[in-house]
Amino acid sequence: MNAPSPIASSSHIDTRLAQAGRTTDPRTGAISTPIYQTSTFAHPGLGQSTGFDYSRTTNPTRQALEHALAVLDGGAAALAFASGLAALTTLLGLFRQGDHLVVAEGCYGGTYRLLDQVFSRFGIATTYVPVVDPAGYRAVLRPQTRAVLVESVSNPCLEVPDLMALVAITRDAGALLVVDNTMLTPYWLRPLELGADVVVHSASKFLAGHNDTIGGIITVREAALATQLGFLQNAMGAALSPQDSWLVLRGLKTLALRLERQQHNALALARWLRRQPGVLRVAYPGLPDDPSHDVLARSAGGAGAVLAFELEDRESVRYLIERLSLIAYAESFGGVESLITVPAVQTHANLLPQERERLGVTDTLLRLSVGVEHVDDLIADLAAALA
Ligand SMILES: *Cc1c(COP(=O)(O)O)cnc(C)c1O
Repeated sequence: MNAPSPIASSSHIDTRLAQAGRTTDPRTGAISTPIYQTSTFAHPGLGQSTGFDYSRTTNPTRQALEHALAVLDGGAAALAFASGLAALTTLLGLFRQGDHLVVAEGCYGGTYRLLDQVFSRFGIATTYVPVVDPAGYRAVLRPQTRAVLVESVSNPCLEVPDLMALVAITRDAGALLVVDNTMLTPYWLRPLELGADVVVHSASKFLAGHNDTIGGIITVREAALATQLGFLQNAMGAALSPQDSWLVLRGLKTLALRLERQQHNALALARWLRRQPGVLRVAYPGLPDDPSHDVLARSAGGAGAVLAFELEDRESVRYLIERLSLIAYAESFGGVESLITVPAVQTHANLLPQERERLGVTDTLLRLSVGVEHVDDLIADLAAALA
């Protein structure tokens, strides 16, 4: 059995991405890691092993993806899961009854739901704090606080936490700093290099990048934590399938190209949108005068390709959604096709109305995930729908 080769050790992340999952199979010379669509592996003899025995535990295709992400994120190891939420569920399996978590407000709606409606029942308490104020995180720490969880860019309001300040705060508290980096990917931001302990990705978004699969990743800085999570990955059983591992690996190869193009389009659209009379406000940390621009620029190389904008009233939102033809009205972000969502009725529908209002997730807020289409076509689509 041929172990996946190390991905290229170039200092350029574009090169490492393009070479992700490339094998050195001496028999066939295959460039792409095969999809090892097998549940089990035969042993050469009693007490002997190829290194693989059952695909929930390890699978060569998944291992190639996990190796690629460990290198890209700069961690000791990475683990791949059946979805971003499966990754978070497994991560929460590190904790026990009585433990306390501090979580940035404006996190992914499914993360709220998992904490408040599932893990709360197992005695894991969560305190939510505003994204941008480091003092707010420090103020709610308890002796039982085991982790602080933030998203590299919040969703859908696109606020950016000060990761450097949070590294210091969590170190002092003996808690883990967990960064959900779905919005920026290792191409734009590598939180482990800044001192974070754990990175989580929904691979369903930019990493896979084609709106065609669901997956999740955890990368950790220290090998000891990787061992614990490897145990949980096998014990809880939410590992990524070989086929989906291959799709994420395939997506990674073009991540640099896609993100450059998507970010270019997103900045052009943000600038165009803020000049439109019916648009009250545009949030995009790539705009130099956005409130989150400076804190993002201190740690990240880019701002991603998701922006949010607010219209005057619900009628304008309905009209816009009905009139768009190129941009699909669909949940999710990060794929090559542009998508638009109304977070209040989709991704954040499970929050109470007053909670949504407080977080700025108003009924007239739209989130736009910008794809790789020609930007003139995207502008024309929006112009016709805003008219
Ligand atoms: C989508 C998303 C998740 C959940 O990932 P799934 O793959 O949909 O389970 C978690 N965090 C963020 C920031 C996301 O955008």
